[in-house]
Amino acid sequence: MATLELDSITKTFQDGDDEIVAVDDISMSIDDGEFLVVVGPSGCGKSTTLRMIAGLETITSGTISLGDRVINDVASQDRDIAMVFQSYALYPHMTVRQNMSFGLEESTDLPDDEIGRMVSETADLLDIPSLLDRKPSDLSGGQQQRVALGRAIVRDPEVFLMDEPLSNLDAKLRAQMRTELQRLQDDLGVTTVYVTHDQTEAMTMGDRIAILDGGELQQIATPLECYHEPANQFVASFLGEPSMNFFDVTREGDRLVGDSFEYPVGAEIRDDIGDVTDLVLGIRPESVELVEAASGDHDFEMTVDVVEPMGDENTLYLYFEPDADPETAETLVATTDGLTRISPGETVVAQIPEEAIHFFDGRTGEALH
Ligand code: ATP
Repeated sequence: MATLELDSITKTFQDGDDEIVAVDDISMSIDDGEFLVVVGPSGCGKSTTLRMIAGLETITSGTISLGDRVINDVASQDRDIAMVFQSYALYPHMTVRQNMSFGLEESTDLPDDEIGRMVSETADLLDIPSLLDRKPSDLSGGQQQRVALGRAIVRDPEVFLMDEPLSNLDAKLRAQMRTELQRLQDDLGVTTVYVTHDQTEAMTMGDRIAILDGGELQQIATPLECYHEPANQFVASFLGEPSMNFFDVTREGDRLVGDSFEYPVGAEIRDDIGDVTDLVLGIRPESVELVEAASGDHDFEMTVDVVEPMGDENTLYLYFEPDADPETAETLVATTDGLTRISPGETVVAQIPEEAIHFFDGRTGEALH
């Protein structure tokens, strides 16, 4: 079985006198047949992690196992892992058929007709039989991407590794390939590690997502768990567009006091907060509700600064004090449905529902509630 296990993996690079810790003590277990998306900002260590799994980068410390064998010292070509790159990396002088069969000819002693059959089957699966005799230069970006996938699939590996494979495609094709890749992976059931910096890909494709920052694993969980129960402020801000609102607040008894507002909290939240006094309150834009009139402690009169109509919804930038300077006032971002007519300068009442708020430790960023 192809469970892939990373145990305390670290990778450092030497840059002159400086040591760069690209991957810092990451452990995770990717189940047999699972689709894991590794996501994070540029430079967080995604590609280095993938390259260590592929055997293209040595491991500074830790172990990587596939099933019950440690593969740290197994050569890349002997790992039974196929990798798909952003750049496709097709051989330009070979036809599509040759690009797809080359790996099998090199690494197995299967007869030619068997390899031919496997290539045909894979081409059918990807809907590219008509391209088999073309060269890569005669293909569109989307077609080249299919061939790169085909080359990985035909090898029937235990693990697929994919490094931003859709990032060279236009938005429409990317959306189409997202669905197609998921369907393929479901059908083939091959353990897959997929690297991207695109949170939409992470949210829609992964059985689970692993979120990295600064070489460290921040959270590994299902997309919805990461979204609704972020482990820390970094994860909370990374997932969601527009991003979660954050306000520094201090606890005073049963109230939280910020620069622009006070927010009383109930016993459950007070229990979760414990004795931490410096906190960050988080609320997602879609959780802010506009109500007719202020009737409770969680309703705030706010002034509309900017309205961004997106068609199906509007993004509103609101600030707290009606007569404060919008340049310096604390802003709350809220989304409403696209039919709501609201103009800059209007006063609205925004409700920040207690059941939708998150709290983070102001010093460590760890989620408290
Ligand atoms: P991106 O999304 O921009 O590709 P990434 O998350 O894949 O980024 P990595 O390419 O894994 O990040 O790089 C992680 C860190 O390691 C970065 O600080 C990078 O500069 C550094 N790094 C990567 N490869 C090397 C190398 N060969 N020599 C020195 N530093 C490196």
